[in-house]
Amino acid sequence: MQKSITSFFKPKDESQNSKYAEDARKKETKSASIEEKPKVPTPVKTIKEEGDENALPTVDSEEKMELEAPSPVKVRKMELNSGLPENEASEAYDPSVETYHPINDAYWKAQRTTPYLALARTFQVIEETKGRLKMIDTLSNFFCSVMLVSPEDLLPCVYLSINQLAPAYEGLELGVAETTLMKAICKATGRNLAHIKSQTQLTGDLGIVAEQSRVSQRMMFRPKPLNVRGVFAKLKEIANISGQAKITLVYDVFVACRHAEARFFIRSLIGKLRIGIAEQSLLTALAIALVKRNHINDCKAHKVCDIYKDEIADTTLILKTTYSQCPNYDIVIPALLKYDIKELQDRCPMHPGMPLRPMLAQPTKGVSEVLERFSGMQITCEWKYDGERAQIHLNKDGEISIFSRNSENNTPKYPDLIARSKSLVKGNVETYILDSEIVAWDIERKQILPFQILTTRKRKNVDIADIKVQVCVYIFDLLYFNGVSLVTKPLSERRKILMEHFQEVEGEWQFATALDTTDMDEVQQFLEESIKGNCEGLMVKTLDEEATYEIAKRSRNWLKLKKDYLSNVGDSLDLVVIGGYKGKGRRTGIYGGFLLACYDTENEEYQSICKIGTGFTDEDLRQHSEFLSAHVISSAKSYFRYDPSLEPDAWFEPVQVWEVKCADLSLSPIHRAAIGAVDPERGISLRFPRFIRIRDDKSPENATDANQVSLMYNSQDQVKNNQKSSDQMDMESDFY
Ligand code: ATP
Repeated sequence: MQKSITSFFKPKDESQNSKYAEDARKKETKSASIEEKPKVPTPVKTIKEEGDENALPTVDSEEKMELEAPSPVKVRKMELNSGLPENEASEAYDPSVETYHPINDAYWKAQRTTPYLALARTFQVIEETKGRLKMIDTLSNFFCSVMLVSPEDLLPCVYLSINQLAPAYEGLELGVAETTLMKAICKATGRNLAHIKSQTQLTGDLGIVAEQSRVSQRMMFRPKPLNVRGVFAKLKEIANISGQAKITLVYDVFVACRHAEARFFIRSLIGKLRIGIAEQSLLTALAIALVKRNHINDCKAHKVCDIYKDEIADTTLILKTTYSQCPNYDIVIPALLKYDIKELQDRCPMHPGMPLRPMLAQPTKGVSEVLERFSGMQITCEWKYDGERAQIHLNKDGEISIFSRNSENNTPKYPDLIARSKSLVKGNVETYILDSEIVAWDIERKQILPFQILTTRKRKNVDIADIKVQVCVYIFDLLYFNGVSLVTKPLSERRKILMEHFQEVEGEWQFATALDTTDMDEVQQFLEESIKGNCEGLMVKTLDEEATYEIAKRSRNWLKLKKDYLSNVGDSLDLVVIGGYKGKGRRTGIYGGFLLACYDTENEEYQSICKIGTGFTDEDLRQHSEFLSAHVISSAKSYFRYDPSLEPDAWFEPVQVWEVKCADLSLSPIHRAAIGAVDPERGISLRFPRFIRIRDDKSPENATDANQVSLMYNSQDQVKNNQKSSDQMDMESDFY
């Protein structure tokens, strides 16, 4: 990976940060002369610039003047931190205050190394914050300080903020067992294991217990304060090591933890930071930090969010688009620091070996809805295969990788596909990214087998000789070919290139069966044929107009038409199990019912949507109870939204997604799904929910989104009819 990273960045004489600092100086000089302001030196720049790795950790004279120039910000800073010994300044660090100044308030500016405590304090403040905007703003203040004061730390700060050590697809996970951590805490604090265990039971948070236990810690001498870079490196070491050595490494860092550091260090190791910052919020915070950095000389740095709304929106869009085509902070963060934001997308291109988040489809309830949406457009209908989504990459070294819908690396699961990959291509094919569905295949009958058969295939250490379930790959898109991204080209063109350079091999590689038509009778007939062919229905896609491949987006240009479209709801929902109710009668001793939630991506919370007790076999219930018992937590997460009347017998970590069907969706006084979207006080709930299957290929954050729930609610016939009749009444009352 590292090899390909370097090739993306052409060497430049000056870093973007220096350029930005230079621009800031010029701009400031100009505006000072126009406004006839007194000449105050205004050399805002990152304190550490490229090329001065070996420079002493001091602030240059220009910077000193800037830092010492009297300003309202400076005055507040004096009140907040000035004169405090380093230790106290770090404890008082608070990037949420309204007048926060990214340089003046960065108490580590002289060292140019971000203290871990500054990051921990930021997390602590965010954890105590209620509103999402404020949380993002606080994080952006901290990031802005790091960009300006200690830019080399931005990458580890970003990773630590989302509790990752590397790009998600590399699968490097922390998730250290709680008992291992407890042992390290006991060793460091002298407390006994039983006490730590009982406190953790009580508070439901080993991080807090660790922080509180530190009070009792006895030490011969005080270890050196931790910094972000050091902690990040240690976490990587911990992830890669096992056994007693792991405990020793945890212990080494833990004994050096001060204040909230212990809480967040332990939470990082558990794998749950509990600050409610996920990818989208993090990217927004980074974008705001960039804009704050650009306007640091404004003196109103703290008002940036109000004054530069458009610039923030543009920067956020570029950053999010870039990250979706290049989901790797090892590439994006250095480029962000070095180049102008407008160059970012070109500097961080997609490339084979790095999974893209897939384009997703909107549900529909019938052919008439398809007609309504695509009227006058060229469309294609493809069979919708029921298997496992697979993004297949060939990189320039000839290596094939296969990624799941969740961007997990599934390559080890399919050695048979790798072995036969040469038969797929024709002519000169060097690199590609294909989008496809892998289905289980009956070799003798030459037909598709149900999804359930595919799930019986081994996931890891698969030996070709032992494979019992054969698979066929149905290819439906080409996103990248021979060094060129095709995502901005229309589907008709992508498909042409696909057909030209790839070939079908019966039962191994096939193109998705497709029909290009605008005749709705033909669509209907094709839908019926797809069902006879053991498919779930159709995917209807635009061919020419609005037909680009929209990475990571649930697009209106792909509609899914499932066989049970006649039902009122049109699609199943994928929901997260957050609570369990003890069973009665035959279900005594296991959970007999569950509390399910959808995920609200905007607020990053799980919102209760229904209780469920139907659709399970006895064996299902036994297995669910066994699995979920290992994920019981002592109280609801701060990011669960539910009515107290729904309090289950046990709360669960949000770890599993279930596919659920229902009769319809209705407004509910107790459930909180999509609250505020349709009704200001009521959420949406499912009527007669029925369990269908576990969705292993979806992470809880990929569960049905609150926004989708409200769309599904609104598209129900009776809701539409009610809306029509109330519109009608409005018109009538206007008329009279
Ligand atoms: P979603 O992916 O929309 O969140 P989901 O994972 O539950 O929902 P479905 O609703 O069943 O999946 O439909 C979309 C999925 O259908 C795709 O992610 C892909 O795996 C599969 N699929 C099968 N055939 C095709 C096709 N021809 N074009 C696109 N996707 C297809």
